[in-house]
Amino acid sequence: MIVDLHTHSTASDGTTPPDVLVRDARAAGLDVLALTDHDTSAGWDAAAQALPPGLTLVRGAEISCVRDGISLHLLAYLFDPEEPALAGALLELRESRTRRAEQMARRLEADGTGVTWERVQELAGGTVGRPHVAQALIELGHVADIPGAFVPEWIGTNGRYWVAKAELDVLDAIRLVVGAGGVAVFAHPAASARGRTVDASVVADMAAAGLHGLEVDHVDHDAAAKAELTGLAAELGLLTTGSSDFHGTNKSVRLAENTTSPEMYERLVAAASGSPVLAA
Ligand code: AMP
Ligand code: FE
Ligand code: FE
Ligand code: ZN
Repeated sequence: MIVDLHTHSTASDGTTPPDVLVRDARAAGLDVLALTDHDTSAGWDAAAQALPPGLTLVRGAEISCVRDGISLHLLAYLFDPEEPALAGALLELRESRTRRAEQMARRLEADGTGVTWERVQELAGGTVGRPHVAQALIELGHVADIPGAFVPEWIGTNGRYWVAKAELDVLDAIRLVVGAGGVAVFAHPAASARGRTVDASVVADMAAAGLHGLEVDHVDHDAAAKAELTGLAAELGLLTTGSSDFHGTNKSVRLAENTTSPEMYERLVAAASGSPVLAA
């Protein structure tokens, strides 16, 4: 049983539409796929309607969070998308993303790069993110690829054209997810190449707030990080997951490059009550 619990579609900063993603996932041999676009459930319906036989869909989202000034990502699974408190918080995050992407684009435009907010909006089909601004920079020949834009000269964090976006306090976010019947998993907790990461005491606070698991097997974790996170999960009674964090051609990872064990997947589903897993 092949389970991949973290992927992105064109509903955020992936390049594969949600209906194509579920077909590609089955073709790649997956049995379970979670769709976890940034701060949105907008891709859920298209994915559900296109579900191929043999694939189970776990509907989720990856929420932009912060703790002690450190950005972190929270995977939320099987929540009720109509629950007003969580839905309202996600809407605010998306609105903030739109405002900051416009600011980044206008600053780039003002400096004569040729980037326009109109073009960035065209490139974004859902939740707008820095990868869409990066695509605009690639088209104009300023950078060769997406990582080339995530540098201090361009839109890397704290970089020349970078603008902060709103983020939810992660303890509040966990409570909102749990309150909407969902299950929360800390995404790539030790992805240090993206910036500072939180220490174990923060993870303990998250567990106390209702966190269910840690994403251990992830492309941004080395063997030492995985061992440390596995130990921490055992200590705190958290389940562990693995996933690709697939972003289509915006990232070099393949579907199911990392996977979650069937036992952990069953535990995760058993803890959720906000929306069911779907199978064709
Ligand atoms: P944003 O959420 O708009 O701030 O943009 C962050 C997103 O950009 C992440 O979800 C990744 O998909 C992508 N990303 C972050 N860092 C990098 C990087 N160094 N190289 C390529 N993509 C990145
Ligand atoms: Fe992303
Ligand atoms: Fe993430
Ligand atoms: Zn992700």
